[in-house]
Amino acid sequence: MSELFDQLTPMLDRSAALTAALALFEWDAETLAPEQASDNTGKIIGILSDDYFRSLINPEVKLLLRKLEEPDNNKQLTLEQKAVVRELRRTYDQLASIPGREYSEFCELANKSSSVWAKARKNDDFKSFEPYLEKIVEYKKKFAGYRLKSQEQKDDPDAIYNILLSDFEPSLSTKELDEFFELIKEELVPLIKQVADKQDEIDDKFNTQTFDVQKQKEFNEFLANYVGFEKEKGVIAESAHPFTTNLHNKDVRMTNHYYENNLITALFSTIHESGHAIYEMQIRDDLTLTLIGTGTSMAVHESQSRFYENIVGKSKEFWKPIYSQLVDTFPEQLKDVDLDKFVKAINKSIPGYIRTDADELTYPMHILIRYELEKALFKDEITVKELPKEWKKKYMEYLGMKEDTDTKGVLQDTHWSSGDFGYFPTYAIGSAVAAQLYYFMKTQMEFDKLLEDGNLDQIKKYLGEHIHQYGMIYNMNELLESVTGEKFNPSYYIKYLKEKYGKLYGLD
Ligand code: ZN
Repeated sequence: MSELFDQLTPMLDRSAALTAALALFEWDAETLAPEQASDNTGKIIGILSDDYFRSLINPEVKLLLRKLEEPDNNKQLTLEQKAVVRELRRTYDQLASIPGREYSEFCELANKSSSVWAKARKNDDFKSFEPYLEKIVEYKKKFAGYRLKSQEQKDDPDAIYNILLSDFEPSLSTKELDEFFELIKEELVPLIKQVADKQDEIDDKFNTQTFDVQKQKEFNEFLANYVGFEKEKGVIAESAHPFTTNLHNKDVRMTNHYYENNLITALFSTIHESGHAIYEMQIRDDLTLTLIGTGTSMAVHESQSRFYENIVGKSKEFWKPIYSQLVDTFPEQLKDVDLDKFVKAINKSIPGYIRTDADELTYPMHILIRYELEKALFKDEITVKELPKEWKKKYMEYLGMKEDTDTKGVLQDTHWSSGDFGYFPTYAIGSAVAAQLYYFMKTQMEFDKLLEDGNLDQIKKYLGEHIHQYGMIYNMNELLESVTGEKFNPSYYIKYLKEKYGKLYGLD
């Protein structure tokens, strides 16, 4: 028992409650809130955010934190408490390093910048967005600069971008990411070309027929439960873009979006978001509502959603026991589509401009491009003004795509407009972590057979036991090492994509 830690607990409880309240408001704003609610709700969110900030950033917490970090006090803490202290330090430095006034100026700017971006994207008008993005980048550089500690760090040209990366995935820096993306470039660019040449062999025209939305909803609800989403601990609503959030481990909120002329998109959003939801639902009861009571990082979260979406959900074995149910839901539309044809269609790979529409094989190229641009931007090698031109150059180089508009180019993603730099790499890293886990799990269980038998529970249990339950106690590399015996190793990802697409497309 640590008395010092006990003194901290009520303050941490308060911050956890405020975090949950904010998550609920955010979820509500995207799903059910009436149109005119936003101004007043914005005010409420502002007040709650301010309370959240003050619940953690105050002299009392500062003092307790410093004491709890002293070796004599620290060694009396449990493993979980130590992780809370470590996490509190990270959050504290992140929040307290920025002067309050600059932070609210930035929030206001980011808010405005997001709406300017939305309009600019619609009108294909990068020029109107450019001054906002320039300011956002300036702020992000300044804020990250406050967190540079040693002289050595200050002299390192990658340090600023590394700080931004660490907010989303603390286990990785540009050093590992450079190696990762180098491998992707070398190994995947030729494979993507080979596969793209064989496109005519895959017929997915059935997917553009009309699919009744109500029937889609019913099937997708079944699908979510089938993969392991527990409806006693979660709800599913609709929003413009699917996402998952959580108040605690027994209240996980997920959304979907249905298209009348596209069956496949909603199916895989369901499986993807279920992967995020299952992670949160399996976090231990004693950790939820604490600073370490959520998924350990963006990359690990994304590894779980992509594991379910791609490795599990896009396999033939997964669909074997349930495909007939999908056919029964849409008998007219799927009457000429057998299981093989369906599985090929859901794995069709073709280079495109839009990241969120990309298939599993071309997806990492979209991330590679964004990573290279972000890194160059924060090393002052390119300017915001040059982004559209550099963007087009890279799409030509890596995917052979020529796109004239910025709407389908540099303006397509929302992330940069609100200052989320360093976020994109977690998507690709997540896929690679998923592949590493997959190859290891195959040595521990009859993976394909479990899928064929509809026994998804075994897989969920394994992930729960080895990853989910721990919340943020361990970071990505610690988890990978304890499960697979080695740290992050991207070679499994390359192996996975080569095997999968080689088999699907009959390549040698
Ligand atoms: Zn996701």
